Amino acid sequence: MSLAHGRPYLAIPGPSVIPDAVLQAMHRASPNIYEGDLVDMVAGMIPDLRRVARTEGHVAIYIANGHGAWEAALANTVAPGEKVLVCATGRFGHGWAEMAEGLGIEVEILEFGLKTPIDAGRVRKALEDDAGGRIKAVLAVHVDTSTSLRSDIAEIRRALGEVGHPALLMVDCIASLGCDPFEMDLWGADVTVTGSQKGLMVPPGLGFVFFSERAAEVRRAMPRVPRYWDWAPRADPEMFYQYFGGTAPTHHLFGLRTALDIIHAEGMEAIWARHATLARAIWAAAETWGEGGPLTLNVAEPGHRSHAVTALRLGAPHGARLREWTARQAGVTLGIGLGMSEEGDPEGRGFFRFGHMGHVNAHMVLGLLGTVEAGLSALGIPHGRGGVAAAAEVVASAGP
Ligand SMILES: *Cc1c(COP(=O)(O)O)cnc(C)c1O
Repeated sequence: MSLAHGRPYLAIPGPSVIPDAVLQAMHRASPNIYEGDLVDMVAGMIPDLRRVARTEGHVAIYIANGHGAWEAALANTVAPGEKVLVCATGRFGHGWAEMAEGLGIEVEILEFGLKTPIDAGRVRKALEDDAGGRIKAVLAVHVDTSTSLRSDIAEIRRALGEVGHPALLMVDCIASLGCDPFEMDLWGADVTVTGSQKGLMVPPGLGFVFFSERAAEVRRAMPRVPRYWDWAPRADPEMFYQYFGGTAPTHHLFGLRTALDIIHAEGMEAIWARHATLARAIWAAAETWGEGGPLTLNVAEPGHRSHAVTALRLGAPHGARLREWTARQAGVTLGIGLGMSEEGDPEGRGFFRFGHMGHVNAHMVLGLLGTVEAGLSALGIPHGRGGVAAAAEVVASAGP
C-alpha cells in the first residue's frame, strides 16, 4: 500500500517549496516589457532585495542559476591570470573554484574538510603569506549545502582587516540568504551572490549579485568585463532593457515581487528565528534517533550548523533506502548526499539531506520528521525512540 497520494513535499535543499501566492503571481499572460506593470514594478523591487541581503550597496540581476551568479561575480572583479583564495567547506566551495579556473583565474584552495567551518586564523595566515599582494579576492561559502556547514563571515572580514589585505571578500549566500542570519554591510562582505530558488522561494532562474562601492571600483579598473556579465548597466540602467541585458525574466519577476512581499511582511529577524527554531527541532529528532542507531548529523557542533539545510549520515545502503521509502511510501523527497563519500561507499549512498529553507513551517518539519521516523522503523534501521517527540518539544517551547 502506498500512502503517497496527497500533496507531495520536496524536502531537498533547493529548489525549495514555492508559496502558492508566488505561483499564482506568475500565472498570467505575457506582460509588455517596454512599459506598464512590469516596468513600474522592478525599480521598486531593488530596495526590497537589498533589505534581504542587509545592504545599502548595488544589486545586479541575471537570468541565471547560482552558477551564473558565481561567474558574474568573478567576471566583474577578477581578470584572467589574477588570483583568488577559495575557502572550501564542501562541494560548493570547490564548485566556485572550478568556475574561477574556467575564467583563467589562478586559484588557491584552503581546504577545511567536510566537518568544520572556515577557520579565519588559516585565512589570515594565507593572506600574510601573500607578500606580493596577488590575492584579488577571498571566496567564502556562507552555508555549504553539501555539508550543511555554516561559516562566520564577519571573522573572515576581521582577518582581512588585521592583515590590512586589500582583497575583496566575496560570499556565496545561495543557500543561506533568507534563512540563516546574514548581514552584508555589517559583516563587511564586498560581494554577495544568491539565487532565486532557495530562501527566496521563487523557481530557479534568477541570479543576484550584490556589490559594495569598493567592489564597483574594482570593476571600473578591470581591463575588460564580458558584456553579458557586466554588472554596471544592470545595477544602474539607463533604460529598462539594461536591467537584464535583454528581455526581462517576466514571470519570475512577478513571482519575486510576491516573495519579497511575503518576506518583508514576516520580517527578516522573524524569518531567521523561525528557521533557527525549526532547525533545532530537526537536530533534536536526529540526535534522539542517533542515540539508538547509526544516524549522525554531519556537523557535530550546533553553532556550525546551517538553519537552512541539514546533512545526515545513516551509512550505506540505509541512506538511499530511506530516501526511496519516504518518496514512494509517503510523498516526501529527501536530498541526496552530495560530495560525501567514505570507505566502502564511494558514491555517498549512506548520506542524505533535509532542505528546510524558505516557505517551511512547523507542521511541514514535523511531517518530514514523522515520515523519516516511520521510514526508519519500516526499514528496520535501528534508531533511538522519541525523535519526533523531541522535535515537538522544541516547537512547543518556542513560545507564542
Ligand atoms: C544551490 C547552491 C549553489 C548552486 O546553485 P545553482 O542554482 O544550482 O547553480 C551554489 N552554492 C550553494 C551554497 C548552493 O546552495
